[in-house]
Amino acid sequence: SLAGKTAVITGSNSGIGLGMAWELARAGADVVLNSFTDTEEDHAIAAEIASETGVTAKYVQADMSKGDDCRRLVVAAGGCDILINNAGIQHVAAIEEFPADKWDAIIAINMSSAFHTTAAALTGMRERGWGRVINVASAHGLTASPFKSAYVAAKHGVVGLTKVTALETAEDPITCNAICPGYVLTPLVESQIPDTMKKYNMDRETAIREVMLTRQPSREFATTEQLGGTATFLCSDAAAQITGTTISVDGGWTAL
Ligand code: NAD
Repeated sequence: SLAGKTAVITGSNSGIGLGMAWELARAGADVVLNSFTDTEEDHAIAAEIASETGVTAKYVQADMSKGDDCRRLVVAAGGCDILINNAGIQHVAAIEEFPADKWDAIIAINMSSAFHTTAAALTGMRERGWGRVINVASAHGLTASPFKSAYVAAKHGVVGLTKVTALETAEDPITCNAICPGYVLTPLVESQIPDTMKKYNMDRETAIREVMLTRQPSREFATTEQLGGTATFLCSDAAAQITGTTISVDGGWTAL
């Protein structure tokens, strides 16, 4: 059980981060949710997790594009035994057309935030003698696609940071790994299904199989619950010697 541990999950008011928060809470960890939005809904999600699972759950606003906010999040959490760097955005354009401000935002949110939060969290983990840093990278941390220069660069960077963090904590009871999802069924992806069905005049299953999941050999999405389960496994004693590596949850994408 993860009772008594506090997990800070960046970018966790939707999608994979929220799925990880739920699974860690079900495993007994107190959870700190984050986004830059600070809406009533954000606080309501934390209250729902607390009432359903019995753990302490709170929401802390912080903008992961800003280094100071990243560090403030870890401090405001009041302890961070499990750090999940999950916040991320995407922009798709050819390099010549790629807006420089989008490049900077993606590098900041998808990569540099993990440097700042990790820097803020490690001292406490060393003092308490236990820690787990989990970076949510991507199949695009290991392979590339055209038109995703900033995202692919940031995710490869996160995989590199994961290895360095693991080496610097290797003699402490702290591990750092990257989870590399393929295509995950988040609300964002779900909302693209009707348009894809209409555009190709296909039923739901065919649109998913033949259009959306062409690079995912399983032809099935990974789910946020499965990503949460992977994070929970990395927090278990069984995973104590797993460090500095990547775990793909991608239906075979990176085996191709
Ligand atoms: P999502 O849009 O549902 O979640 C992104 C989260 O990041 C949200 O909670 C959002 O509030 C937060 N966020 C965005 N900008 C932020 C900022 N400046 N400060 C704080 N929080 C911010 O998308 P998702 O699919 O759940 O993505 C989560 C992570 O998983 C990302 O790092 C993404 O690159 C990665 N990923 C997703 C997939 C997929 O298929 N969905 C595949 C591989 C990797």
